[in-house]
Amino acid sequence: MPQGRIVKALAGYYYVQDGDALWQCRARGVFRKKGITPLVGDEVVYETNGTEGTITEILPRTSELIRPPIANIDQAILVFSLVEPDFNPQLLDKFLVHTEAANVDAVICLTKADLLSDKEKLNRIRERCNAIGYPVVVTSSKGKRGIEDIRAYLGGHLSVFAGQSGVGKSSLLNALFSGLSLETAPISQKLGRGRHTTRHVELIHLAEGGWVADTPGFSSLDFQSIEANELGLYFKEMRAMLGECKFRGCLHVNEPGCAVRAAVEAHEIQPARYENYLQFLQEIKERKPRY
Ligand code: GDP
Ligand code: ZN
Repeated sequence: MPQGRIVKALAGYYYVQDGDALWQCRARGVFRKKGITPLVGDEVVYETNGTEGTITEILPRTSELIRPPIANIDQAILVFSLVEPDFNPQLLDKFLVHTEAANVDAVICLTKADLLSDKEKLNRIRERCNAIGYPVVVTSSKGKRGIEDIRAYLGGHLSVFAGQSGVGKSSLLNALFSGLSLETAPISQKLGRGRHTTRHVELIHLAEGGWVADTPGFSSLDFQSIEANELGLYFKEMRAMLGECKFRGCLHVNEPGCAVRAAVEAHEIQPARYENYLQFLQEIKERKPRY
């Protein structure tokens, strides 16, 4: 039976792309009985009578994003503006923890380069990102800078753009895809608008293979599902030292023989990253259980 990917869900229909063909499909009733909702991004098996289709099976998902709801994302473009709003390294580390936890690749995209006159600051930020081992692209949607560099990362992936409101996600998507015209607005005008109203998500199929969610993805995150003893795994440079601490289950706070702390003191791990690790650990320890 044929297989395809759900690229859009609208008014009870799922649109399944299979090569060049786009099938308007219903989901089999059995999914509803089992409480399974097909998601945009799902790879599905379907059957068709030549005009409409029926989804008969959903293949196992590799990931599931809740807001916007998309399955099988394997790459997040983490969008941070250099100015307006100012670059926020702690928020970046938070996003990186979440992409690591979700086993999703991350590309750091620094926007609004045209507004930053302080080249030293740009270099500092870029070095900080490079040092943790993630690709960094500097862009300006206004100045059309770096757009093709971002495009080069998209091929072969299912990507979502994520970042705070106002950092320039919609502007970037518009610059990348000529058919798109997402609304862009200064942050001041975005506040107070129905930011949580759900807009339908659609996947853009790339000529070179791969998909991009046309919706600026998640904008805020918490650590609800991450446990204290896993946090270190989601800091790449700490994960690389797994097993080097004297005690198994070391949380790298004040245990004797902690290899991570030694690496921080030797500046092999950036002290600022470690500070954020400690703060996130505290947040996890203090959080209320979910009911
Ligand atoms: P989003 O909330 O992340 O989707 O951000 P938007 O794309 O709506 O952009 C927020 C504001 O920043 C808008 O006023 C945009 O015009 C502005 N903006 C976005 N990208 C750039 C850029 O590269 N340079 C400058 N100067 N302004 C930008
Ligand atoms: Zn340790």
